[in-house]
Amino acid sequence: AKGDGRRTYRFFEAGMDQRAKTRRSLELELRQAISDGSLEAYYQPVVNIEDGKISSCEALLRWRHPERGMISPAEFIPIAEDSGLIDQLGLWVLNAACAEAVTWPDHVRVAVNVSPMQFRSQSLALNVAAALAACGLPASRLELEITEAVLIRDDEAALDMLHQLRKLGVRIALDDFGTGYSSLSYLLRFPFDKIKIDRSFIRDIAGPGASSSIVQAVVNIAAASDMTTTAEGVETEQQRNLLYILGCTEMQGYLFSPAIPAAEVRRLLLSHRAR
Ligand code: C2E
Ligand code: CA
Ligand code: CA
Ligand code: CA
Repeated sequence: AKGDGRRTYRFFEAGMDQRAKTRRSLELELRQAISDGSLEAYYQPVVNIEDGKISSCEALLRWRHPERGMISPAEFIPIAEDSGLIDQLGLWVLNAACAEAVTWPDHVRVAVNVSPMQFRSQSLALNVAAALAACGLPASRLELEITEAVLIRDDEAALDMLHQLRKLGVRIALDDFGTGYSSLSYLLRFPFDKIKIDRSFIRDIAGPGASSSIVQAVVNIAAASDMTTTAEGVETEQQRNLLYILGCTEMQGYLFSPAIPAAEVRRLLLSHRAR
């Protein structure tokens, strides 16, 4: 039994080692990818639940790795955060998204994800202002998505940054709402423009659990505070209909469209306008 234990331990160790190696090489390759064009921003439309019109598109990073194929941002964003590459990556996507949005109809906004670490950098507001100026995008057409994790640490600095960004005229959305710890209290502390209700609630919304009551509560709080609500991960007509009845403002999900390349979004927006 003792021998088995040791064998298991060694196996485990080897596994750890392999994972650490993979991570290190991904980090080096990510550094490369930022400059060589294998990173690409895709865009996922967000539509008004009532009339199906596209109100904004969210930039979502894609990494076409030469050997590993498409790597999910869920895999490489954490690596970028740990290695400090996130600032560069964040700047890249911010500038790419603003430049892309300039080619869209005026009423369509672009949403960009801002990671907690980026948010802690003092230069975020400056970088945002520079990105807008560089391509001539009005601040009102940019929406920044932040998660509750931003507000957990260093409350004062985070609130100050939120106010600086708001003063620029960009909109602020609270992303993945409901997945954090004390979500409701954050809503009282800062007036977000939009709450994005996490996919986990939408997935279960037609089920017997409390999801639909929670969505209802969030929609009510949002309406009382002049915020809009976006349901994430809407995949079925049934979910859409329920969300409509609950009074949710917008939806995003495979029912309407997954994230698609910039050229396809441009085509979609043109045909959408012509409808
Ligand atoms: P997120 O911000 O919550 O983005 C929504 C994720 O849900 C996206 O995954 C999107 O493709 C996926 N999704 C949308 N509709 C549906 C649906 O109907 N069903 C299902 N099952 N999934 C749906 P993606 O693109 O893999 O991104 C994962 C996460 O990576 C994002 O979650 C975001 O946290 C992060 N991320 C992506 N791009 C960036 C970026 O440029 N900067 C930062 N900081 N994070 C990013
Ligand atoms: Ca997001
Ligand atoms: Ca989200
Ligand atoms: Ca999410």
